[in-house]
Amino acid sequence: MQIRDIVITGEPVLHRPAALVDHIGDDIRALVDDMFATMELAPGVGLAAPQIGVSLSLFVYDWVDDDDVQHRGVAINPTLMLDPLAVTPLDEDEEIEGCLSVPGERFPLRRSDRVTLTATDLNGNEYTTTAHGWLARIFQHEYDHLLGIVYTDRLVEPYFSESRDAISDAGWGTPGSSWLPGRDHLEG
Ligand code: ZN
Repeated sequence: MQIRDIVITGEPVLHRPAALVDHIGDDIRALVDDMFATMELAPGVGLAAPQIGVSLSLFVYDWVDDDDVQHRGVAINPTLMLDPLAVTPLDEDEEIEGCLSVPGERFPLRRSDRVTLTATDLNGNEYTTTAHGWLARIFQHEYDHLLGIVYTDRLVEPYFSESRDAISDAGWGTPGSSWLPGRDHLEG
């Protein structure tokens, strides 16, 4: 098990679709172990393989809800079905999102409140799960990473421009930036 560097927006692997996983072997199991350890240390509630520079279609998540129920899993080659977005005004406090690949920044973003995830687990079994609220947000965020979409790509104004400025001010948005959880004290 190894803590992996997390690449920062601008790194090309974050901005292109990930390849499907065609075989679940020891290499994928080791990758998933690394991803859980890296996510835990960061800390974060989700991590997609492209965020550690691996262009494969899988993500991990680990989140404890308000009722102390833990939602933890691996989604390999996932697909996601989304309920329509609400059209109410954006709540800047409740609908705030961050990303380990845009560390230290948070911006409001409307997400679907209910999604259905279908994916393969580490044993090669397909599963389907429906998520609401924050877990639905996590699934949408991580699934986007597998499509080559960073959440800042989806922001509306003025947040979109604010995020561009923050990324530019940090010296990101071009290839070559990363950080290592446990060494560099940044957060998602
Ligand atoms: Zn992210």
